[in-house]
Amino acid sequence: MPQLIEIGSLAVAPQPETLRVPELEKGVGCDFSSYLLVPDNTLDERIGAAVQKLGSDLVILGHHYQRDEVIRFARFRGDSLKLSQQAAECDAKYIVFCGVHFMAESADVLRHEGQTVILPDMNAGCSMADMADIGQVETCWAELDAVGGLGVVPVTYMNSTAAIKAFTGERGGSVVTSSNAARVIEWAFTRGQRVLFLPDEHLGRNTAFRMGIPLDEMVVWDPYQELGGNTEAALRKAKIILWKGYCSVHQRFLPEHVDRVRADHPGIRVIVHPECRFEVAQKADEIGSTEGIIRAIEKSPPGTKWAVGTEIHLVNRLAKEHTDREIISLDPHVCVCTTMFRITPQHLLWAVESLVAGNVVNPITVPDEQRRWARVALDRMLSLR
Ligand code: SF4
Repeated sequence: MPQLIEIGSLAVAPQPETLRVPELEKGVGCDFSSYLLVPDNTLDERIGAAVQKLGSDLVILGHHYQRDEVIRFARFRGDSLKLSQQAAECDAKYIVFCGVHFMAESADVLRHEGQTVILPDMNAGCSMADMADIGQVETCWAELDAVGGLGVVPVTYMNSTAAIKAFTGERGGSVVTSSNAARVIEWAFTRGQRVLFLPDEHLGRNTAFRMGIPLDEMVVWDPYQELGGNTEAALRKAKIILWKGYCSVHQRFLPEHVDRVRADHPGIRVIVHPECRFEVAQKADEIGSTEGIIRAIEKSPPGTKWAVGTEIHLVNRLAKEHTDREIISLDPHVCVCTTMFRITPQHLLWAVESLVAGNVVNPITVPDEQRRWARVALDRMLSLR
């Protein structure tokens, strides 16, 4: 019995020469369409063989919302910031990011010289990040400037494009994560009188409210309306200007889901992601980032019942890993991030076999100037820890 090699959470047998996948040696891997035909039962073996061959030159990152068939190959699992930092700290030349586009961009901003970031499917975007278009944000900034005397500091969630992060960095602002948003908003108030919070309305509102800022001191900026749909007086009264963006997954959770789950499961604790609506966050027992949700469940005693308001792959994985607790989704209907789901084992196989063949497919390269300012915005946040 050969000694098993660990690849992500999988243990695979080392591949003797005779078992090597012949295509790996022939320089295939450029055309994705042929990978659609790869039989399912050979995917693990082929991915394992390519990963083994690439060795320490490769690091695969898996966001918590990735499907099991993909995330099991990840050397690191986590949220987008943690994964980008882990990749930058290792010696791998190739960073294959199983996540969505803005995450691969963040990895490219934080990577060190000589590393290349790859997104297995370029169609894996994020609807929330796409809701803050750089042209719209620049128009918003010009309109706020024209009002005059507002003293606005921009802050943007990690879940935004590199262009928006760079915009924020260049104008004295910072990035936030779902776990440090309050700290960064507090910091922003030391630099100005108002915060423009991009691109997630709900994270901004939930965080600011918990900081003691009343709802009537928050306005929503709708990029399709003049002055974002606000009067000058409303903007002058506001402490927080919330960009009208949301996560299509987390916005699906509704207050009635909380009521129903409490009625059906007496004693259950409800924990939701801060990208959920304000009304849902208000009804929940706890609010937590993905890492916060994982920690809360891990440290809860056996027998605890949890209804979790976040993406279904993470909820199901937590349920599998903690069978002594009852863990269910807050929404009885599946809440899947369809763009995360675009990364299939076939895409991962294509990316890694292409590397073996000497081809880099789907590289993510943030332009230099954007990279520089996005890094400034990220470093400001990191300096606040
Ligand atoms: S879960 Fe929401 S914020 Fe995260 S990648 Fe999917 S759409 Fe974007």
